[in-house]
Amino acid sequence: MRTDLRHDDGRLLSVYGEHGSADLPTFGAGEPSQLHLRHDALTDTWVGVSPARNSRPLTSTPATAASSCPLCPGGPEIPFGYEAAVFENRFPTLVADAPTPPPGPTAPSTGRCEVVLYTSEHVGSLGTLTGEQLARVVAIWADRSGALWADPAHRHVLVFENRGEDVGATLSHPHGQIYAFGHLPPFIAGRLDALAKHRAEHDTCLTCGVVADDDGAPDRQVAQNASFTINVPYAARWPYEVHVRARRHGLSRLGDLTTDERRDLAEALRTVVHAYDALYDRPLHYMMTCMEAPSVDGAPAADWHLAFEFAPPARAADRLKIRASVETATGLFINDTLPELTATHLADALTSAGGVPDLTIPDVIITHGLQEPDHTRPARVTTPTASTHANTGARS
Ligand SMILES: [Zn+2]
Ligand SMILES: [Zn+2]
Repeated sequence: MRTDLRHDDGRLLSVYGEHGSADLPTFGAGEPSQLHLRHDALTDTWVGVSPARNSRPLTSTPATAASSCPLCPGGPEIPFGYEAAVFENRFPTLVADAPTPPPGPTAPSTGRCEVVLYTSEHVGSLGTLTGEQLARVVAIWADRSGALWADPAHRHVLVFENRGEDVGATLSHPHGQIYAFGHLPPFIAGRLDALAKHRAEHDTCLTCGVVADDDGAPDRQVAQNASFTINVPYAARWPYEVHVRARRHGLSRLGDLTTDERRDLAEALRTVVHAYDALYDRPLHYMMTCMEAPSVDGAPAADWHLAFEFAPPARAADRLKIRASVETATGLFINDTLPELTATHLADALTSAGGVPDLTIPDVIITHGLQEPDHTRPARVTTPTASTHANTGARS
């Protein structure tokens, strides 16, 4: 069950599952935003200029100290108890009603930036959520990204998670984010070109070929999964990079997942996080990006398979791979490890830790509340009227 509310500054707050009730805090209108995109002529790419981001919270909250966490129940974003929630970022880079950009080669910073709270519990990760919590997170990703894809203003939607200070995460509460882009970002455009070129030359799906190659390389396999490959990619940029990629041609977005595939995806993601957490004596910090098919002429791009790509910057227990001069200036990544070796490290770490603990993952389907969001004033939460999926009884 999803209940949609609005903060007084207009930001959406969607609460999933059971939740408490309290007045939302007053944020006020705030400073006029100077958000805009600037065109870099020499690379023919856009740069987001987002001055307000400097005032966002920069102090890391320790994993054990919940009292000062703005994402915990009772905090400024959600002043009541909740099971999971999504809210629009108070310090966005992309917004629906982007301000008029300054004169010059600029563009409005159109899009959305949302924060996804996996659970109300301050400590945890995709590896430690209960089956119902994990299934709910996958359902929320599909629910929110589906809504963002449906908006014709969006060319791309990116579900992602930055976990840990090594990748700049300032809050340790288990959460991820979703960005919707009004333009096609350059790395995504590059992938589209590769798919189209392969289709033109071979009349086959490039990504089906990558899946077959991954299946043919057991030494790059981290674990087995019926619906997804779980491999260190052939040309890994980061030493412990792992890709979770859909086997089924036609599964290109989260909204395409079948019941079995939703469960297999949840299982695959927690497997990767368990492998990462078993590698050293501390959780591995990572960037996790969900690669959904971008829109081409209003439809999902052909030959694109849904994938979750994990990029941890660690190259050893106490050393980080830095994206330094060569990577930054030329785009040539230099990986000083062999993908076949790091995959073996991860698979061995998982085995040494006793594998991934069994978990029953129910099928959670999001149903929408009847309450229309109030755009003009702080809303008061009402008790949801219906909350269960008929087949499983799992709340959403
Ligand atoms: Zn917290
Ligand atoms: Zn394919």
